[in-house]
This record gives sequence, C-alpha cells and structure tokens, in this order.
Amino acid sequence: MIYLDNAATTKMHDDVQLEMATYETQNYFNVSAVYKSAVSLNGQIDTIRADILKKLNGSGSIIFTGSATEANNLAIYGSAKNKQATYIFSGIEHPSVYNVAQDLKNRNYNVLYVNTLPNGSVDVNHLKTLLDSSVCFVSIMAVNNETGAINDIKSIVKLVKSVNPSIIVHSDCVQALGKIQIDLNSWGIDLCSFSAHKINGPKGVGVLYIKSGVNINPHILGGGQEFGLRSGTVNTAGIMGFKKALDITLQNFGNIQKNLLDCKINFLNFLEQNITDYKLNSSLNYSVNNIISLSFKGLRGEVIMHMLAEQGIIIGTGSACSSKHSGNRVLSHMGLNKNYIEGSVRISFGMFNTVTEAMDCAKALVIAVNTLKGI
Ligand code: PLP
Repeated sequence: MIYLDNAATTKMHDDVQLEMATYETQNYFNVSAVYKSAVSLNGQIDTIRADILKKLNGSGSIIFTGSATEANNLAIYGSAKNKQATYIFSGIEHPSVYNVAQDLKNRNYNVLYVNTLPNGSVDVNHLKTLLDSSVCFVSIMAVNNETGAINDIKSIVKLVKSVNPSIIVHSDCVQALGKIQIDLNSWGIDLCSFSAHKINGPKGVGVLYIKSGVNINPHILGGGQEFGLRSGTVNTAGIMGFKKALDITLQNFGNIQKNLLDCKINFLNFLEQNITDYKLNSSLNYSVNNIISLSFKGLRGEVIMHMLAEQGIIIGTGSACSSKHSGNRVLSHMGLNKNYIEGSVRISFGMFNTVTEAMDCAKALVIAVNTLKGI
C-alpha cells in the first residue's frame, strides 16, 4: 500500500508506540492520585508541558485535551463570553472551528467570516475592514487542511492587536505543526490548537496553548483536571506519545521537509508534463510541502480516488472529517466552481513516504484521469 492521505491521519511512529506502551502497562497511575508514583508521574507531565512551551517558544499554559476538535471547541466556547461582541472566523476553517462558529451564529452571537483568496489563504485586506471596536475574538487557521495554504499568523495577530490589543486571537495549528516553523511568542498568539495524530503520534490527543494572562472558561466540567479547564482523567500514555512524536518531528524537521518537498515537486512536475487541464488549488510558494489539492474539471474526485485505491494507492478527496458532508466548503469559499470542486482530490505526503511512491501515484493518477477522459 502507498499511503498518501497523511493530512487525514498519520501512521504512528514505532518509537511513539514503544514510549506509550510503558505508560499503558507499567507507569499507568492516575496523575490526580496522591501516592508517590502518581505524584511523580504528574511531575513528568508538567515537565512535558514546559518542554512543549520551550520547543514552540510559548509563554503560558499547555492544556491536554481528547483531540484538537476539543481544543478548538474549548478555545472558542471558552472565549465566547459576550453576546454583544463580534466574533470573526475565516471561511476555510476545519469543521471543528467552523461548526462552532455556526453554532454561535445560530445562538444570535454576531459572527463574521473573512473572505478567502483564490490561492486558499485568507484575504487580510477583507479582515482589516471587519475589525472594529466591537470585535472580541478572531480565529484563523495557520495551514488549511484541504489545500495546504498557509496564513501569515504573525502578521494577522499584529494587525488584529493594532486595532485592539485585548482581542483574543486563536489559531488552529493542527496542520502547521511540524510543517512550518511555529514561534508562539513572536507570533503573539493567544490560543493555539494542536493534534498528535497528524505528526505520527496517537489519535485522541490534542493540545490547547493559552498565553499567560488570557482567561477562558471551561466547558467540560468534572474533576477539575488540566487546571480546571478540561476535566477527565489525564491521558498519560497519549501525552507521552504526543511528546515523543513532537521530539521526532522537530529534531528531523529539515530532513522531513526536504523529503516532502522532493515528493511534491517531482509529483507536480510529472503532472505538468503529462496532463494539460487541471488546477492546483494553492500557490506553490505559499503552501506546505506535504499537501497537494488538485481539481480535474468535469471529473469526479471520488471516482479517481477509488481507481487509485484499487491499485493500493490511498489518496483523499478533501478533508476526511468533512467527506461525509459537503466536503467542498473550502474550495467553494476560494471561488472554485462546481465542475472543479467535484473533480478535486487531495494528495498528502508524510515522513515515511518516498519520491518513488509519489511518482507511482502521479503515474497512476495520469492514467486514471486519461481513462476517465477517454484518452
Ligand atoms: N483542525 C484541522 C486543521 C484538522 O485538519 C483536523 C483534523 O483533520 C482537526 C482540526 C481535528 O483534529 P482531531 O482529529 O485531533 O480532532
């Protein structure tokens, strides 16, 4: 099998699995308990919080959650304190942000969406026009999960804070972690969400970074774990797995990125030489190295995906999370018409992929597209 759907999820790294096993079967204590082994394990978790802050250059707290979906929900619901204020979101957010924004809107909060440029990034000039004294919260993702388009979060935070420093700025950094350099302090961001399973860590482990001085309300109540912000028994093995995955990803950042870029460039060069009428749904210079979103006018992405799957090549048709629903909100927000949207596929590379695999996929894709066109 050639797995090229790494934006949906990644294969767990062997070292992560090994690390986690210890905390499932030996050091499995409940960190809320007061006996020595539990207290010591709790200390280890706190050391990991400090380590994550150091690696991402943040100043504040790290809250472990059951997913990035949960981290995004906590960030938004936790900040939605004032019904009279305005909440701004990009229109290309993952459903774990977008559907929360829609829920706020349905409950009569004033919710505004920022336009998207044809290259998949948010239209910062439009954002400028939306910012006024009524705004209390802005949420813009760092990297889009369907197109790989990058948003310049540092400039966006600067812009928002220039209007009013007390506006809370959140960024869903799930697809950015390990793909672009993240510097929380220099970005000046208030809230940031991450997920372990996109960086070869375990599924079901998320993180919310909260900058010092930023206060949000909990929305899961219970035993008061995670500083009262996310009740529920702490997932020690999952947290250890996240930390190991982050270490591996950041220690090998340069090599991983080089390999991803080689895969992308070779794949796109082959396509350019062998197919004429397709659309790349991002700009090469302003997207991450691991995601390629393509549209083939008049064809069905789903059919292409199944044709490749029959040959053991796994690609996506868009966001895995949204594929059961409209799956095309992001592309239509970018201005793509239906003919292109229906013919879209997403190829996303991961640290275990090789250029040979990328080329095998490119060749199979060309054959599938030509077959469907009757060439
Ligand atoms: N945000 C983005 C950009 C994502 O791509 C995903 C997963 O697809 C999520 C949030 C949700 O992450 P999780 O699966 O940890 O809930």
